[in-house]
Amino acid sequence: MCPRPLKAALYVAALQSMAASAADTAPGAGAAQQIARAGSQASAVGPAEYFTGRVRVDPVWPATETINTSGGMVTFEPGARSAWHTHPAGQRLVVMSGVGMTQEWGKPAQEIRPGDVVWCPPGVKHWHGAAPNTAMSHLAVTGTLNGKNVEWMEKVSDEQYQQK
Ligand code: MN
Repeated sequence: MCPRPLKAALYVAALQSMAASAADTAPGAGAAQQIARAGSQASAVGPAEYFTGRVRVDPVWPATETINTSGGMVTFEPGARSAWHTHPAGQRLVVMSGVGMTQEWGKPAQEIRPGDVVWCPPGVKHWHGAAPNTAMSHLAVTGTLNGKNVEWMEKVSDEQYQQK
């Protein structure tokens, strides 16, 4: 058994190494620039539980202690969209290509195009996805609060998607 102060020190060191492995850049000695190389982060399928249609999610960066937002590139095939959801700390969407749609609960859907930047405030129910006949990719920059960045709700029905 370790004496208690040593045990505490080891625990702190373990936490620090966890933070470092999460690509964080703590101020002070030992901080170094890092490059996550193209091709080093695997693409994932948007799960059918939370998305309608074909959706690919490419992780870009994880949330860390110093910058508490994650980045993800999300590509929606024509007609594909997220379920209704909220973000506890909000989200920004930067449309990169194609033509997309987004809608806030109780308001009309809006078309979004490359260069558009959408702000989804904390707790505001919404969805985002592709236009009916055109794919869309956006960079999603999502804040984290208490380890959570999204709360999923019901799917966007075809009827909801088609009424604009
Ligand atoms: Mn969202």
